[in-house]
Amino acid sequence: MIRTRFAPSPTGYLHIGGVRTALFSWAYARKHGGVFVLRIEDTDLERSTPESVKAILDGMHWVGLDYDEGPFYQTERFDRYKEVIQQLLDAGHAYYCYASKEELEAMRAEQEARGEKPRYDRRWRPEEGKTLPTPPADVQPVVRFKNPLDGVVAWDDAVKGRIEISNTELDDLIIARPDGSPTYNFCVVVDDWDMNITHVIRGDDHVNNTPRQINILKAIGAPLPVYGHLPMILNEDGQKMSKRRDAVSVVDYADKGILPEALLNYLARLGWGHGDDEFFTMEQFVEWFELKDVSPSASRFNNEKFLWLNAQHIKAADNLRLAQLIAPRLAAANIDPANGPCLADVIALVKERVQDLNALAAECDYFYARRTPSAADLEKHLSDESRERMGRFAERLAALPEWTAESIHALFKPFCADEGIKMGQLGMPLRVLVCGTAQTPSVDAVLALIGRDEVLARMRG
Ligand code: GLU
Repeated sequence: MIRTRFAPSPTGYLHIGGVRTALFSWAYARKHGGVFVLRIEDTDLERSTPESVKAILDGMHWVGLDYDEGPFYQTERFDRYKEVIQQLLDAGHAYYCYASKEELEAMRAEQEARGEKPRYDRRWRPEEGKTLPTPPADVQPVVRFKNPLDGVVAWDDAVKGRIEISNTELDDLIIARPDGSPTYNFCVVVDDWDMNITHVIRGDDHVNNTPRQINILKAIGAPLPVYGHLPMILNEDGQKMSKRRDAVSVVDYADKGILPEALLNYLARLGWGHGDDEFFTMEQFVEWFELKDVSPSASRFNNEKFLWLNAQHIKAADNLRLAQLIAPRLAAANIDPANGPCLADVIALVKERVQDLNALAAECDYFYARRTPSAADLEKHLSDESRERMGRFAERLAALPEWTAESIHALFKPFCADEGIKMGQLGMPLRVLVCGTAQTPSVDAVLALIGRDEVLARMRG
């Protein structure tokens, strides 16, 4: 049984790099009929406020990545971590280290002075035939993991291929602080073990942690999961994404009017591909996804492509759902869709023209409220002559036996012929007068939706 997990540390928001990690873990589990676990790594008590935990849960809910187990909270598992630390101590895989801060600093300074890489010199590590110093009474010890002294730690990374690290590169890691609280790498190991995680899919900023985690898993006697480290997502300039510069939080994307399925579709394409397919559903993604097809190198965010994709998803989305999604935006603009045509019908007409939900809401605006045209549009399209002409066209509209896009359309040709004008000389002034803008979809369909009384009221001024 495949079991994957997403294990974010709450930082105040759900990062889109995290969403992509979650997406790939989720897809892998779904593809193999496995289980996807959510684990909140909230041991950093300063950052892990209830609000920042909520930001993650809300973000997961918004993108729609459903988890089968969890959320599990590391802060609720301290007793378990302590139990395993004790097991490691009892089995001789870990030991107390009483080196004080000052001692460690002095050690570091000496090593640096000798031009060596600073590292713990294993002074408290028990070894056969070695006499340890007497534990000082006034120092609360840390617990260190007894890392193997030689050999290599190797794994076949599902994304990056074979990775080997020499044990001589690895220190005896602190697994419990002086107050007994477990450290980050240790909690991850115990959790992945207890939660029976078979595939650890995570960002490649964790590659350095993996050999340490593997050594601890081996010492515990736990099975090793498959590791797959995903490359970073860079911004358009090829830089690491930063909250200051880039839209990194899921909420930023929601605010920009991005559909969750478009975000997931785009994130799936960042560093993974299925031929030339750009637009696809999550069902297709799950069917196609293989870890081996994930690119080992970083990928760049391309905003134009992303917005294009969002536009495709808006076109494909159900109009009633879109109506619900833009309702708060309309309300914020003081527009009540109850005072006018059916919003889903309006959306059906205008959605081809937009790339995001904010633009969609803006595009619906003139169906519900009369808008003042810009001075430029007035000057360009509404001369005295064309205003008079609009008056004559309003009479024909008023006389129509039925009010449909087709019947309105049928008026255009004869009217233009009678007036000796081209279609544009009717359509543009009509748009500006009724909609307040010259940019609208097919004007007969627009008028049909706005309704005869309102159209005539707007035309007659
Ligand atoms: N909590 C870590 C993070 O947010 C992820 C740890 C892991 O996936 O092993 O970066």
